[in-house]
Amino acid sequence: MAVLVTGSVAIDSVTTPHGEAREVPGGSALYFSVAASFFAPVRVVAAVGEDFPKRFLRVFDDRAIDLTGLEFRRGSKTFRWTGRFDGDMNEAQTVDVDLNVLAEDAPRVPPPFADSESVFLANTHPTRQREVLTQVTSPRLVVCDSMNLWITTERESLVETLRKVHGVIINDAEARQLTKRMNLIDAGDGILDLGPRFVMIKKGEHGSLLVTADGAYALPAYPAKVVRDPTGAGDSFAGGVMGYLDQQGASDTQALRRAMVRGTVMASFTIEDFSARRLQELSRADIERRVGHYVEMLHVG
Ligand code: AMP
Repeated sequence: MAVLVTGSVAIDSVTTPHGEAREVPGGSALYFSVAASFFAPVRVVAAVGEDFPKRFLRVFDDRAIDLTGLEFRRGSKTFRWTGRFDGDMNEAQTVDVDLNVLAEDAPRVPPPFADSESVFLANTHPTRQREVLTQVTSPRLVVCDSMNLWITTERESLVETLRKVHGVIINDAEARQLTKRMNLIDAGDGILDLGPRFVMIKKGEHGSLLVTADGAYALPAYPAKVVRDPTGAGDSFAGGVMGYLDQQGASDTQALRRAMVRGTVMASFTIEDFSARRLQELSRADIERRVGHYVEMLHVG
């Protein structure tokens, strides 16, 4: 089995109270694919421009990540995101965003990827998300993410995407913005009304929530002392979740809960350093050790 992801592969510049990283590898599909590749093979469908530094491809080296669907588009420019985190670093401030290739046609799904059983529509234009999804023949599990920019500028298109997915992984502010409901369980229910059968709401250092027709389930964050750059935490969470679900071949409520544990742990590694540096040096044993520690911590009485 394999997880197909479409989203952004970006040139990021990020400032946090712990320093700054200029023009480093980023993007929703990049963080997602590296995190998911520890659990299942990943197929990337994304486009970058002529300015994409070839050295960024090293992030994907020696991993179960198939880049056949990564298009180097002539005459186009790579998506660029400049952001900063201040104070408690719980919310990214977008300083500058150049959509570039994300505003153009969707990348093509290579024919050998059309049989993918799991699909993650990471953050990108919601119309691009659907254009990619229609090229996958009969996916078993389709999950999407979105963010403030698309909720503000492309709400109708986003609602159309939500009708076509089984699950949503989104952050707390976005869930509130999308549904105009302040209580997060209520907001989760509001998203279920739009079509999906489960919603995972990420709350940064406050953990995450799962909302399904069976009710709500909450997990704390992994207690992290080192937080240098939260960029990519959400996509790494999604990568851990989708990689694990694909590996297990299940997406019932129990499997979703166990998957959230993996998502939480992958996010906790990403925030320890800038860009995808920490993910790149991880081993499967490091992940299992932290999962063990986290599960032990959750056990009460
Ligand atoms: P997160 O996991 O939510 O922290 O996402 C971080 C990544 O999202 C960064 O590496 C950015 O390049 C990427 N990103 C930021 N804004 C957008 C957007 N509007 N569409 C797609 N990707 C984005």
